[in-house]
Amino acid sequence: MKRTSRKASTPSRRHPSRDDSPKGRPVKAKAATNRKSAALFARAQAVIPGGVNSPVRAFKAVGGSPRFIASAKGATITDVDGNTYIDYVLSWGPLIHGHAPPSLIRTLGQVAKLGTSYGAPTELEVLIAEKVRSLMPTLELVRFTSSGTEATMSAVRVARAATGRDRVIKFAGCYHGHADGFLVEAGSGALTLGVPTSPGVAASTAALTLTATFNDLDSVEALLDANAMQVAAIVVEPIVGNMGTVPPAPGFLQGLRRLCDQHGVLLIFDEVMTGFRVHRGGAQALYGVWPDLTCLGKIIGGGLPVGAYGGRKDLMSLVAPAGPMYQAGTLSGNPLAVTAGLWSLRGLNATLYRTLERLSKRLGDGLLAAARRASVPLQVNRVGSMITPFFTAYPVTDYASATKSDTERYGAFHRAMLARGVYLPASQYEAWFLSAAHTDRHVAATIAAAEAAFGEIA
Ligand SMILES: *Cc1c(COP(=O)(O)O)cnc(C)c1O
Repeated sequence: MKRTSRKASTPSRRHPSRDDSPKGRPVKAKAATNRKSAALFARAQAVIPGGVNSPVRAFKAVGGSPRFIASAKGATITDVDGNTYIDYVLSWGPLIHGHAPPSLIRTLGQVAKLGTSYGAPTELEVLIAEKVRSLMPTLELVRFTSSGTEATMSAVRVARAATGRDRVIKFAGCYHGHADGFLVEAGSGALTLGVPTSPGVAASTAALTLTATFNDLDSVEALLDANAMQVAAIVVEPIVGNMGTVPPAPGFLQGLRRLCDQHGVLLIFDEVMTGFRVHRGGAQALYGVWPDLTCLGKIIGGGLPVGAYGGRKDLMSLVAPAGPMYQAGTLSGNPLAVTAGLWSLRGLNATLYRTLERLSKRLGDGLLAAARRASVPLQVNRVGSMITPFFTAYPVTDYASATKSDTERYGAFHRAMLARGVYLPASQYEAWFLSAAHTDRHVAATIAAAEAAFGEIA
């Protein structure tokens, strides 16, 4: 449609931060126009709360105003003013194969011709469930939903149904979607009952969520001891992506497994972000720790709305109509969504993860070196193609250390990178992603842009 969307799988010709710019020469910021984006944002704010349908999109944490996107292809996105950016947001994780892969778009067209939704079972749903189980054998049974939020809230319902207990342990800084029970953070003491993070969450609901410290098994054990026989499940992002990337310390996930077994508590891995991102078998295969229940989303939908939860057969057999625990969805297992998911899962192979690892390492190393040259304190946390540069001089291992980051500086960096044609998450506390469509050229261009951006904000 748009002139700029055609050959956008590599940085555009006029892109100021191409890797063939002579080494060491500063990459100048382009004086981009954002006239159309700004006008749309003004209109949007009159009809949509804050002008967006998901808060982080509004750029509040980084300043500036959001770009309205017209099209995307491969590793790049193009806004309504015709600016093309190398994209490290990738729809917040789903697009491991990049934007608009031609064979997926063709397949979706064929499937759409057969109808877009039936509210009745299809072979596609059997195929994707079989595919998920072959990739993640702990999902003996799996139920599909339309979002990650539905997957996590339903997995907790299963855990409560199975154990007859009401309380749940989560970790400060972990995000599990926007269901009431998860919008909770701890008070200062580890044994403090949860207080809601958001108005509108009933205090009685928040009180059922206990908050522990990521990478701190003692904090978990203290909660389990203080709430003996009351905890249904521990829910964790096995690699945190939602306070920026924070990997589990050696032994942490194994320790959670052991504590769960000792206390009769179910272990739920929220792999909505990590599932198929860090390994074909998810973080559980990467670390060899096996949860009772797993939540999936993002990559499993290949860019269309899909979530899923699954696990041990005895637990998942509680879900209606096999069992008494109610959960449903008008569009769950939607043929278009499942087609995109299946396409996305079928494209996962060892070569892809090797390539992502190589590019991500190059990006991380390059960012660190560039920051060092500009004397900007930076920590890069990375697991495969999940990567976050934190603007802090100290290691980031949990929520407290993550929130020591200089978010003003991240905002300045974000704006400086945007001006150089690089589209980054609009918050310090998010993971950046790479895709199969990213190349060494994109990464080199990004490092060159970062070199200049660090110089500007130092
Ligand atoms: C994105 C995310 C969710 C929520 O998924 P939605 O599809 O946005 O509802 C839940 N858990 C984790 C770990 C996520 O990254």
